[in-house]
Amino acid sequence: MKSGGWKIGNTVQSIKTYHIDLPEKVRFILDRLLLNGYEAYAVGGCVRDILLGKEPQDWDITTSAKPMQVKALFPHTIDTGLQHGTVTVICRHEGFEVTTYRIDGEYGDGRHPNEVIFTPNLLEDLKRRDFTINAMAYNDQHGLVDEFDGASDLRRGIVRCVGNPSDRFHEDALRMLRAVRFSGQLGFAIEKQTQEAVKSLAGNLDKISAERIQTELVKLATSPHPEQMRTLYELGITRVILPEFDHMMETEQNNPHHCYTVGEHTIHAMCNVIPDKVLRLTMMFHDIAKPLCRTTDESGRDHFYGHPLMGAKIARQIFRRLKFDRDTMDAVCALVRWHDYNPALTEKKVRRAMIETGEAQYPSVFAVKRADVLAQSSYKRQEKLDYVDEYEKIYHKILEQGNCLSLKQLKVTGRDLKQLGIKQGKQIGDILKMLLEQVVEDPDRNEREYLLKQVRLYLDGDSYEKPEAEQS
Ligand code: ATP
Ligand code: MG
Repeated sequence: MKSGGWKIGNTVQSIKTYHIDLPEKVRFILDRLLLNGYEAYAVGGCVRDILLGKEPQDWDITTSAKPMQVKALFPHTIDTGLQHGTVTVICRHEGFEVTTYRIDGEYGDGRHPNEVIFTPNLLEDLKRRDFTINAMAYNDQHGLVDEFDGASDLRRGIVRCVGNPSDRFHEDALRMLRAVRFSGQLGFAIEKQTQEAVKSLAGNLDKISAERIQTELVKLATSPHPEQMRTLYELGITRVILPEFDHMMETEQNNPHHCYTVGEHTIHAMCNVIPDKVLRLTMMFHDIAKPLCRTTDESGRDHFYGHPLMGAKIARQIFRRLKFDRDTMDAVCALVRWHDYNPALTEKKVRRAMIETGEAQYPSVFAVKRADVLAQSSYKRQEKLDYVDEYEKIYHKILEQGNCLSLKQLKVTGRDLKQLGIKQGKQIGDILKMLLEQVVEDPDRNEREYLLKQVRLYLDGDSYEKPEAEQS
């Protein structure tokens, strides 16, 4: 026996007949640990996914060996979280998290429990895990270790806490959001007692860090069942982590274009786009300002003037609060801002819309608009869809024509203007913008000679000496 480590020999009930075809690298790591007298199992999400017939995203390993003992056995390791027992073992350019059996204290703040006690007992380690479906372990020697009936919950499609749900949610409130996230990813129901505990303890989610909430919310939003956002609302979770969503759920839309509350419309719209992070978040937030922008006219009809612009602002505040990365925030906010913009269907107007919206997000605009229309009432639906089709056709035509849509595509540059004697950066910028305006009107104007002539005409009519004269 290695000093400080534990030998195989804890009695665990296992289903020996169960066989998982472990990837070669995982088997190599498990074998090396086993050969050196430690216990080692594949554990958690990977076992769950294999039992579901899905390809696991990553393979986590749990072992009786302490972190330093793991490090001693493998030439390439990274100290991922030694104090929490995690070492990443690098096996031919691929990393595998190997974590010592542990009992967790409370999860005070961030990703990790305040206090971790290593244990020689696999069952103690499995007991600290969140749900029965995530608390199974496997190795070739012992087969499947499934102390909490995870396999049968998998078969029945149930997310159920390991042990007493209230205790488990008191230890780590994030688990409540994770329960709904897994139900969205797997299409599972949440077991009754687990649900009841969420209802009474959802308030504790206010102690959880923004980063952890963001991760789970994105996983739910991009899952096969984004409609589980409804469960987040019903269980009182959004009230704590995203109260703006509750306002949407509670805002009626008395308008022939709509047949749902803003929140229900939002949920349907999320289901109408592919599970892409930017698209799903755009649909989640596209009408976020409607509760604030709602007015009712004398005939009792609701209007939501200005909601896209205001929505982009509110979405930005939410993204900041949840500590999202800048790229996601900018992409989603641009789409929220322009989701309801309907240019006249001429090349000129569409070119202008493309410049205003920003080309990078443009292809997504059409998916967003279709998802939005399909989540509305059937009133004028075909007309609206025809409009989007035609809009998209014109967009593609503009791209094929290679029309100039930015200053850098102009056939005249800032340097040309300098050579004409214009010194001020601001004036150069203004003139280039004016030229772009002209070219957007008619792409044939993007000819060097024509544009230089326009500059000369401009300078003759509006002496470029003037700004300097004004300065003095
Ligand atoms: P994914 O496929 O999304 O990675 P996963 O089940 O692997 O799903 P992770 O968040 O990677 O989820 O966690 C790995 C395992 O660690 C889980 O399967 C579970 O056993 C355990 N676990 C993770 N977070 C918690 C938590 N907050 N409380 C208890 N156990 C947890
Ligand atoms: Mg994982």
